[in-house]
Amino acid sequence: MSTNPRHEIQEKIEEGDLRWLLLKTGELHGHFCPFVALGVKASVIAIRRLRAFTEGIDEDILAIVETNNCFADGVQMTTGCTFGNNALIFRDVGKTAMTLALRGGKGIRVLVKPGYPEAMTADNPEAKNLFERFIRRREKGTPEEMRRLKDVWEALSFAQLEVPDDKQFKVEEVTVALPGHAPIHPSLVCAECGEAFMETRGRMKNGDPVCLPCSGDSYFVLEGGGIRMI
Ligand SMILES: [Zn+2]
Ligand SMILES: [Zn+2]
Repeated sequence: MSTNPRHEIQEKIEEGDLRWLLLKTGELHGHFCPFVALGVKASVIAIRRLRAFTEGIDEDILAIVETNNCFADGVQMTTGCTFGNNALIFRDVGKTAMTLALRGGKGIRVLVKPGYPEAMTADNPEAKNLFERFIRRREKGTPEEMRRLKDVWEALSFAQLEVPDDKQFKVEEVTVALPGHAPIHPSLVCAECGEAFMETRGRMKNGDPVCLPCSGDSYFVLEGGGIRMI
């Protein structure tokens, strides 16, 4: 028997139950914040628009995110395109935008409008102040202040679901160049540390295969600040 573990999520997307989807995304993301809500909403918009020229959402689709902040978790949970299933592409360009695309390259790109994040807290001085102090400047607040931040931020997260889409997003049809399916490579065992590694990530050292860390060569890491070579 084959099961579709995302059956319920897909049903909620059909129904447009954004609240349920945001609550579900909290399980992955760990907190409720405005950008995770925007990621959920942008994904639902893209899924619906992409359906306008496909038969369904169970085709081979990929998501491209242009930022590795909270927004990206809304995209992963809602689209089902994740870091682990190779259907997620990260373009490290620092834009709050996502694209949902078919393997053929036809896609929908949803971008948070410039100025919207600032407008979000413009008429909410408390939220603006808490964000400035405890998120942007990473100040350490009292337990009470941190609780307040969580509450205000959570309220602002759910409030995003009520804002009309066209205030938040620019939506466009795009054609993107996409890679083929992720290849599966055999493993080798490192002559130095004894750990198995993907063949393409190895180097030869004194005639034996070694893993990248043991080779001393540089490699890419994805961290909070983006992708960099170490
Ligand atoms: Zn967040
Ligand atoms: Zn090694």
